[in-house]
Amino acid sequence: MTAAADLVLTNAEVHTLGSPDETHEAVAVRDGEVVRVGRTFDVELLAGVETRVVDCGGRVVLPGFIDAHTHLPMVGRSIVHADLSEAGSAAEAVELLRERAAEVERETEGGDGGTGDGIGGDETDWVLGYGYDESRWDESRYLTRDDLDAVSESRPVVAFREDLHTAGVNSVVLDRYADELPDEGVRTAGSDGDGDDAGDPTGIVVEGAVDVLREATEPGRAEMAELVRAAQSYATARGVTGVHDMVRGSRAPEVYRDLADAGELALRVRINYWSDHLDALREVGLRTNHGGGSRGDLVTVGAIKTFTDGSFGGRTAKLTEPYADAAADPDAADDETGQWVVAPEELRDLVADADESGYQLTAHAIGDAAVDAVLDAYEETDDPGAARHRVEHVELASDEAIERFADSGVVASVQPNFLKWADEGGLYDARLGERRLRTNRYRDLLDAGVDLAFGSDCMPLGPLLGVDLATDHPNPDQSLTVTEALRAYTSGAAYAGFDEGRLGTVAVGTAADLVVLDESPWETDSIRDVPVSMTVVDGRVVFERD
Ligand SMILES: [Zn+2]
Repeated sequence: MTAAADLVLTNAEVHTLGSPDETHEAVAVRDGEVVRVGRTFDVELLAGVETRVVDCGGRVVLPGFIDAHTHLPMVGRSIVHADLSEAGSAAEAVELLRERAAEVERETEGGDGGTGDGIGGDETDWVLGYGYDESRWDESRYLTRDDLDAVSESRPVVAFREDLHTAGVNSVVLDRYADELPDEGVRTAGSDGDGDDAGDPTGIVVEGAVDVLREATEPGRAEMAELVRAAQSYATARGVTGVHDMVRGSRAPEVYRDLADAGELALRVRINYWSDHLDALREVGLRTNHGGGSRGDLVTVGAIKTFTDGSFGGRTAKLTEPYADAAADPDAADDETGQWVVAPEELRDLVADADESGYQLTAHAIGDAAVDAVLDAYEETDDPGAARHRVEHVELASDEAIERFADSGVVASVQPNFLKWADEGGLYDARLGERRLRTNRYRDLLDAGVDLAFGSDCMPLGPLLGVDLATDHPNPDQSLTVTEALRAYTSGAAYAGFDEGRLGTVAVGTAADLVVLDESPWETDSIRDVPVSMTVVDGRVVFERD
């Protein structure tokens, strides 16, 4: 006699997203696994008295989305603190920070001292905002001390710009951190940028000074747990059942395991550790793919992460040909093709070292010169395809680079939401000129046989937004079909995490990670607006829309 299922979804359009994509009417789940797919009549036979049966009324059921590039604590920060990405002007940003200041006031009044080991140790009084982008405002200017003194004159206030390379601070921060902020990172009135002017600080801080503030506000364990809880609710409401999270010097890895132990982790987390952590991981014997093998084990050791170049926004992505607008930036005069953050020789040493110890690698590379440098380093390893070494972003890649991905088996981990920069008059147009139409070459990558994994880099997190943009590429030759784009966000991302077969499809024996959509992405006018009605992770309903 067969044991009853825990959950049965009936009268659905269940897509396997395999090749070819097959559809079924129903799916049954037991102990975190898919135990039957087929016709409603047959699958319903597994329903017992304890079984939850959901009549999907014809809705589409897909394998859960896997976001192959996230920073979950950042998502949590924008939810818990002020989300300045919403601000349409400096005044609106100040208003959002004031609302947050009032919240902080209420939280600290409670007398419980806030979250104990929260932000900055005992100092739980920070007013923080994230993600402001003055380039979209009519009056395009950074937030200053005057703006932020209007938020609070007694609590420290920091407004981080979207790229985290610039921030605005109030007088309390300038006073409290006077000794710690490096002079060259603190802009002063009448400053010519060399930092030795005697003028008053404007409250605009950059680079090294921002790093000091990031460290000072790095969440403690309890605060991190709060951020991760907020972020996972946001993610599962968007159909995300697993993430490949990039971590560096934070409490996130222990918090993922704390939440998993408490049965509170709502999605799978594959942790890609910054290369800073390589020696420690090796010493304690943690290797790529440790953990995550058995039922209920949601946290896995992923790859070793590194940078190569910067970003297009900062004109620091490394190109083979100069930036189209290099002349517009006097600072870029020395290096009009961008900058190395990690130089090719250093990259090669790291890759050789980590690969030798059996780690998967994943390297940030945005410009075409950076992509080439990563491929050079990977090709020197024994079998980059078997190790599933990955390149993150791949925003500009030559024909030769695409061939090299295909030949070596290196995974292209790309972010279709970046296509928001690819329109005429957009960021890519300004920085790259006509090269904007040769960015994010999804069709060419797929046609060459490259393993393509989609992710969001949390800018913003949202798989259906990415699928929408990838199917409506500014260069129509690079558009994907809906099925192809969905595969990149399911089986493609699963492959990048050694999870194919187990995740990213719907079949008997796969993990029960599923998403139910209110409308069919194949039939809607706007894929990004399709509501998620239910998300299931490891057989557990982790999100349900009321
Ligand atoms: Zn990232």
